[in-house]
Amino acid sequence: MFSYRHAFHAGNHGDVLKHVTLLAVLRHLMRKPGPLLLVDTHAGAGRYRLDGAQAVKSAEAAAGVLRLQGGGHGAGAALPRMPAAHILQDYLALLQRFNGPAANAWTVYPGSPAIMHALMSEPGRAGVADRLHLFEWHPTVHELLARQLASWPDARRVLLRRADGFAGLRGELPPPRAASQPRRAFVLIDPAYEVKTDYDAVLQATADALARCATGVYMIWHPVVAQPGAVALPRRLQSLAGRADRAWLHATLDVGRTTAPRAGADVRGGMAASGVFVINPPYTLAEGLRAALPWLAQALTRGNAERWQVEQHGA
Ligand code: SAM
Repeated sequence: MFSYRHAFHAGNHGDVLKHVTLLAVLRHLMRKPGPLLLVDTHAGAGRYRLDGAQAVKSAEAAAGVLRLQGGGHGAGAALPRMPAAHILQDYLALLQRFNGPAANAWTVYPGSPAIMHALMSEPGRAGVADRLHLFEWHPTVHELLARQLASWPDARRVLLRRADGFAGLRGELPPPRAASQPRRAFVLIDPAYEVKTDYDAVLQATADALARCATGVYMIWHPVVAQPGAVALPRRLQSLAGRADRAWLHATLDVGRTTAPRAGADVRGGMAASGVFVINPPYTLAEGLRAALPWLAQALTRGNAERWQVEQHGA
């Protein structure tokens, strides 16, 4: 327990799928002026060095987000022109912003808390009382994130707790009602899946969250690996959303596998595919992902296979 460090995986294909989807969902939710409660149950360190020892050792970012630099020049092989998919261009523009407008080689990768904070701090959200609540249990990672938070503007709208994010989510929902505004919440559940009980914990936390706030938007990242808990998770989430009469979307991205996982690597090391499951997805999400994923699959392929899928129900 607690050996997982996301710094080895930051910017890998799983992060790319997760953060492109996160950005697309939040852009849609932020079109409305009402304040949002954003919750990240497993926040990580917030920001990662792509030239740091952990990223260099795993080489996952090199095979992931770094291939997308310059609109896909990093992929080496000739790529089709990037589709005019706003969602992808938005993601690349955000990465460029974190690295500085003149940077040719990206060295910084924003994790989910940094992405959420960047969006709620944009001029278009000025005067909107969005709030960001973060949970991170690992003492060292929590400390890294706390240090970053100290330098963020408007940090009083951000709350970081060193606590179990599954249990902590219960106290967050339903979000308080802002004066005459509907309750609006977005929750990212992105555990390390370091322990097999994480799969059941995701289910339980999501079921409890839906019971407390049926209209919240819930996004769960999951690895696609040959473990019984991992295989069953998307189907169990579909049943859960169905029982609650909620729309859902499930997207997967498979980049194929050519390399063996590092010795001692966790579930993300050597992983060929991952998925995002969104409950109450914005109606624009499926179309955005269907435009983005074929290009991403080609840009990130490891040469032997690339596949993607977007399924939805009730959206
Ligand atoms: N969401 C982050 C992002 O996209 O940038 C990555 C998060 S990483 C996959 C999972 C994080 O959860 C790790 O930093 C780990 O220390 C932390 N963690 C593990 N168990 C936890 C728990 N029960 N509650 C909160 N955080 C936990």
